[in-house]
Amino acid sequence: MRRYRAFMLFALPILLLVAFGSDVANSGHEGLIIRAALAANPVGACTSAGTDNQVYSLTGYKFPSTSMTFKTNQSTFPTYISKSEVQSAIKSAFTTWDGATKRALFVDGGTTTAKANTKDGVNTVAFGNLGGGYVAAAYGWFNTSNVVIEFDITLSTSYTWATNVTKNGDCGGAANAFDVRNITTHEVGHPIGLNDLYGTSDKAQTMYGYAAYQELYKRTLANGDKKGVLVLFGQ
Ligand SMILES: [Zn+2]
Repeated sequence: MRRYRAFMLFALPILLLVAFGSDVANSGHEGLIIRAALAANPVGACTSAGTDNQVYSLTGYKFPSTSMTFKTNQSTFPTYISKSEVQSAIKSAFTTWDGATKRALFVDGGTTTAKANTKDGVNTVAFGNLGGGYVAAAYGWFNTSNVVIEFDITLSTSYTWATNVTKNGDCGGAANAFDVRNITTHEVGHPIGLNDLYGTSDKAQTMYGYAAYQELYKRTLANGDKKGVLVLFGQ
């Protein structure tokens, strides 16, 4: 517990750096990666994905040689949408990346009471507080060999969410809400080894670092996202 507190103190300036688009940190023995999807403030209108520029960017951190098990903390899910739909949306986000390579990347471990953004040995997806206009964030911890040993994903409770189960189209989601599957698919790209992209021409990629209400197109991988997966894991 003492060690964890020390680590969090160290992490505070990292959070500030991330607000400016920077990364990383290494405590000496193990490091923390934080990657986030941002909403413009106020949240901008959703516009179509546009041209696929096939761009990707690698974090440099390695996914382990065996698959990682993710779990969801359903007690944090919003009460205004169906729990099973949220669960299904999160699972789809993982299987989307899994489907882009023959490597088995993720295993659905069901539910947990573990907290997100806490290094506790559980790869947790949960809703929770995130400051600074962040819609969601992926936290990752890596070892001295730069292999990811744990990740957590938090979807911000500062925003309204929807599952848009029967919806489609780039911007076909519910008004004034972020789509759970859309945003989670983006976040899952981080523990895999992909960075945010912030160029305006990168917009069609799932790893584009900004998100909008109603947006659905990040649910499916663009060519840059797929290229990144192939470089990391092969076909
Ligand atoms: Zn991101």
